[in-house]
Amino acid sequence: MYKDFQKHLQAELKDIEDAGLYKNERIITSAQGACIQVGGKEVLNFCANNYLGLANNKELIKAAKEAMDTHGYGMASVRFICGTSDLHKKLEAKIANFFGTEDTILYAACFDANGGVFEPLLTDQDAIISDALNHASIIDGVRLCKAKRYRYANADMADLEKQLQLAQADRFRIIATDGVFSMDGNVAPLDKIIELANKYNAMVMVDESHSAGVVGNTGRGVTELFNLRGKVEIITGTLGKAFGGAVGGFTTGKKEIIDLLRQRSRPYLFSNSIPPMVAAAGARMFDMMSETNELQDKLHFNTNYFKEKMLALGFDIKPTQSAICAVMLYDAKLSQEFAAKLQDEGIYVTGFYYPVVPKGQDRIRVQLSAAHEVKHLDKAIAAFAKVGRELGVIK
Ligand SMILES: *Cc1c(COP(=O)(O)O)cnc(C)c1O
Repeated sequence: MYKDFQKHLQAELKDIEDAGLYKNERIITSAQGACIQVGGKEVLNFCANNYLGLANNKELIKAAKEAMDTHGYGMASVRFICGTSDLHKKLEAKIANFFGTEDTILYAACFDANGGVFEPLLTDQDAIISDALNHASIIDGVRLCKAKRYRYANADMADLEKQLQLAQADRFRIIATDGVFSMDGNVAPLDKIIELANKYNAMVMVDESHSAGVVGNTGRGVTELFNLRGKVEIITGTLGKAFGGAVGGFTTGKKEIIDLLRQRSRPYLFSNSIPPMVAAAGARMFDMMSETNELQDKLHFNTNYFKEKMLALGFDIKPTQSAICAVMLYDAKLSQEFAAKLQDEGIYVTGFYYPVVPKGQDRIRVQLSAAHEVKHLDKAIAAFAKVGRELGVIK
């Protein structure tokens, strides 16, 4: 049997390769940070989700080590049997406090949080109205739920209104959106979304994975940016990006919603707890967030600095309100060539092309971090200028 299947897989893999879509992992041999070792070479990293530069933070490492000494290595259980430690409860409370919500439930990843959020809450009498550019995990979560599905064009409020009108016959309605869309770095227009939610009697779910820690003066995410803290029913997010970058996800929001998720959410009921060291470091991280705004301030400074210098050079950058800067090149081959030349200059970025982005919308995505110093930014900008002139992208 396997012989035939093997042939089939080999043909599939060849198709992927022929289409130029085969993904290779690049091996990093240092800790995650502004400067990393890739393939034996030191490069400046501009493609991690390490927005606050916490992935190799001394205090978080210390908190994790201490928790290993007091609580051991793993939990070896799901939460509701014997996988809940005082550290997990502490972290859940701190997440709710950070977002101004009522309660929080932890998952092994935000992929699981999104996979397990809709199905326990909604039935075939209900409706989910979802942004077309939502993360794959929201799309999968919607698929696992029997609720009717409505889709609106990215951040398109006229289309959202139309879909809400179509969904008026359904019992309960929930609008689901990413806080920041990862390809352009644009923010969901949450003020208008909530206005429409009120008008058409809908609830709102926001995935703050790319916005938490980043967006808003103190990094509380898009609900802070639009002055809507506590106004959305459900927020999901990850501990794998700005918040230390290890692993873990969460859903935070209304008390009864979180309570029902603890009873019925399958990735919570049937998957292991996050390690105590991750819970402890996460708790320490949220304490740091309330002690100082240094990292957010530095990230916002870095993002503006990079954006302004790049625009002044003549690069075309998508409007962004996050730490994601999409440098538009509008050509797939050019995006790959540009990224390869930048790597020769010691700048590590990724070129994105169809089908990851729409045809003709090829680009290099730059992700800024509080780990970057101005000298790092200057080096990256100089490299962009050099390669941009070489390839005729700028004058
Ligand atoms: C990264 C991301 C996720 C997945 O988070 P993990 O914790 O890595 O599973 C989910 N949603 C969005 C919007 C993301 O950007």
